[in-house]
Amino acid sequence: MRMNKQNQYLWLVLTCCIFVGELLIMLMLHNLPTLNPWVESLLDATLLSLFVAVLMYVFVFRNMKKSIEDISKAEEELRLVSVAFEMQEAIMITDVNANILRVNKAFEKITGYTEQEVIGKNPRILSSGMHDRDFYRKMWNDLLHDGIWKGEMWDRGKNGEIYSKLATISAVKNDKNETVQYVAAFTDNTAHKKAENEIYRLAFYDALTGLPNRRLLLDRLSVALSSSARSQLYGALIFLDLDNFKTLNDTLGHYYGDMLLVEVAKRLKASVREMDTVARLGGDEFVVLLEDLAANQQEATRKVAQIAEKLRIKIATPYQLNENIRHSSPSIGVCMFYGNQVSVDDLLKYADMAMYQAKNAGRNRIRFFDPHMQQLVETRALMEADLRSAINGQQLSLYYQVQLDQTMQPIGAEALLRWQHPTRGFVSPVDFIQIAEESSLILDIGDWVLETACQQLARWSQFEKTRHLVLAINISAQQFMQTDFVEHVATSVKANQINPACLKLELTESVALGGLDIVVTKMLALKHGIGVTLSLDDFGTGYSSLSYLKKLPFNQIKIDRSFVRDMLTDASDAMMVKNIIDMTHNFGMQVIAEGVETEQQLALLREYGCMSYQGYLFSKPLPINEFELLLTSVAKTE
Ligand code: C2E
Ligand code: MG
Ligand code: MG
Repeated sequence: MRMNKQNQYLWLVLTCCIFVGELLIMLMLHNLPTLNPWVESLLDATLLSLFVAVLMYVFVFRNMKKSIEDISKAEEELRLVSVAFEMQEAIMITDVNANILRVNKAFEKITGYTEQEVIGKNPRILSSGMHDRDFYRKMWNDLLHDGIWKGEMWDRGKNGEIYSKLATISAVKNDKNETVQYVAAFTDNTAHKKAENEIYRLAFYDALTGLPNRRLLLDRLSVALSSSARSQLYGALIFLDLDNFKTLNDTLGHYYGDMLLVEVAKRLKASVREMDTVARLGGDEFVVLLEDLAANQQEATRKVAQIAEKLRIKIATPYQLNENIRHSSPSIGVCMFYGNQVSVDDLLKYADMAMYQAKNAGRNRIRFFDPHMQQLVETRALMEADLRSAINGQQLSLYYQVQLDQTMQPIGAEALLRWQHPTRGFVSPVDFIQIAEESSLILDIGDWVLETACQQLARWSQFEKTRHLVLAINISAQQFMQTDFVEHVATSVKANQINPACLKLELTESVALGGLDIVVTKMLALKHGIGVTLSLDDFGTGYSSLSYLKKLPFNQIKIDRSFVRDMLTDASDAMMVKNIIDMTHNFGMQVIAEGVETEQQLALLREYGCMSYQGYLFSKPLPINEFELLLTSVAKTE
């Protein structure tokens, strides 16, 4: 029965009016004197029945009103539900046997199926075939246990296109807690998924070749190491670098360079198993990660050697780049792994080192990383860390090796660095200077040497006997190339108030690699601007021609000790020494021979016209107090 609120009030007013009317008639009749008792009792009964009727009416009406209110509330809710049902989210309701009962418009829009087409069918008609049994098993498990499943899934629309959806499926229960229906609500997640995939691709794949990038390779490598630890199978990392790729890029241009890289990527991918990772680290560097090679090291090495050779041949096959045919070859470094004792970064470093060995061996070659080399690398890393603390820990000191003139008078010394390691003992500069140079620690060390030498010169300047001594220090190329090197020297000279001519900087030919113009300008600033002396150390060991070196404003040339050592036995070395001395005379330079160990060497050097000498024949490098004692003893023997 449908009745709105207005009608209900009308009914109530009408009923009340009838009742009041009847009551008034009763009262009027009661007041008539001629009324007989029969009529009177009839009136009383009527009045009573009317009263009962009113009571019943009120009772019935109240209940009726309540049920009317309930119905209208339910109607309101239904309206709400049907509005909600037609929201953006697709909704599908099934019975307990998963037969579709109802779907909304959004469902029709996303899936392409009309309601008529799906009613009574199983939702499996939407299946994309992209999920395995386990996926659905887990879904039903969640629904049966928790009454709800949420997740992402791929479905297929009526037009055959696969789309991603974010879905929530809930079980609807009755009063007895029995599932009576399932309601699935979902939204189309395809655009989001595509964007997500694109972000992933950009973050983990190389844009040019589509290969995994360094980041993804490192991820996969770390998984591979753990998996090797579990499976006890060897794996390998193959590092490839294209030989002379830069030349191709420079001659044909980047367009062709890119074409070549894409082709290399294709060839590498085609040469390994689907499960192997081929990655591009950047530039012309590629890495192949091979897993599960063999349980036996020899067997694994044999397999990886075969694969590396196959890759080398494939990459070395000529490339057709549009109208050009180009040749390229790779240098290949291989590093085996077993378990996860070695870190991902170290493995990559070792494969890289092996690749450099292949390059040094003449390119287009394969080299395996040698564990012995690994040991060296590790010792080196430790040494670098120790050297860092050596500078502050006062483990460094300068030793002084005397330099003499033709009359055998001390004219100065070369300051040579010494490292007294707390556990290793004495470490030779031959072993640590290179490490310092590669790690830029040489800059701190160089500053320390310069300052210590200047302080020493300041002390010598106070005494008549030592005032004239020239102290030579070795300057590494890296230190010399610092933009503020000249200012640095000027500051130290000034701060210690020393005679700049007493400070001699020994440079090697490698400084000239910094560009002739810049080097000459710097040297002139040092020589004329500050007034320090410049000596060319280890002369004869480099590649520079004498005429090239003439352009560099050195005061002195220092003949390398290897020539001095062999000049008595090797005629060409003797000739070389003679030529160097003659040349310095012609150029108006001074000359000093280092590594003089015997009287015969000294005699020949004298004969050739050498002006000054340094070597074990006179003294080994000494700590400062011993060196000063040596000076006094020389003075006494005069
Ligand atoms: P260098 O500058 O050529 O130094 C000469 C080296 O020859 C020194 O080796 C010295 O001890 C050694 N020597 C001197 N006379 C003789 C001799 O008669 N026979 C033989 N066999 N050797 C002799 P040391 O002190 O081991 O230094 C080696 C190298 O380390 C130096 O070669 C220099 O390149 C580098 N070095 C040493 N101190 C420093 C420094 O303070 N800074 C920089 N950058 N390098 C340094
Ligand atoms: Mg030297
Ligand atoms: Mg030298």
